[in-house]
Amino acid sequence: MTIGKKFNELNAKEYIFYINNHKKYKDFNTLGLYRSLTENDNLSLGERITIREYAHSFFKKSFYFLQLKDPHIFVKISTLGMELTKADERRIWDDVIKNQQIILKDKRIKHRNFGTYSKHSCPYENCIYRGLMVNPNSHFAWGSVHFDSDKSKFSQKIKSERRRSERKQEQLIINKLIND
Ligand SMILES: [Zn+2]
Repeated sequence: MTIGKKFNELNAKEYIFYINNHKKYKDFNTLGLYRSLTENDNLSLGERITIREYAHSFFKKSFYFLQLKDPHIFVKISTLGMELTKADERRIWDDVIKNQQIILKDKRIKHRNFGTYSKHSCPYENCIYRGLMVNPNSHFAWGSVHFDSDKSKFSQKIKSERRRSERKQEQLIINKLIND
């Protein structure tokens, strides 16, 4: 049997149904299931978390491998609904990096062709992804992972420069008022 639908289109009840019956559906894809939890607009936050926990009771081991296959999704799913400080984020990524090493070490012994991974090495000294093993085609090849944050850093810089020049203008006006 096939589900014949994307996970993104399911509601919470259907998720539970397909998880319970996953052995009967040959197009059931565990990673696809997890991935969809961040993308499916039919789900409330509470439902996403409930489905994640339910899925973990079946597929915790596959989920663990997501740290290597798709670390961004792994972190997103693991932290659903949490408010993270920079320090929390740092700690989570440190754990992912540690677990990746464990997975790669294990896998290399069993079968050599687990995939091609290389270290995320960007020029940013404080980058939280430093040392992360990434598939060269993934979002984490540093060019694309930094694109968004660099863009926002750039616009922050523009904003702060604008503020600075506004303050300067104000000061000029005040000076003029005082001196005139
Ligand atoms: Zn980086």
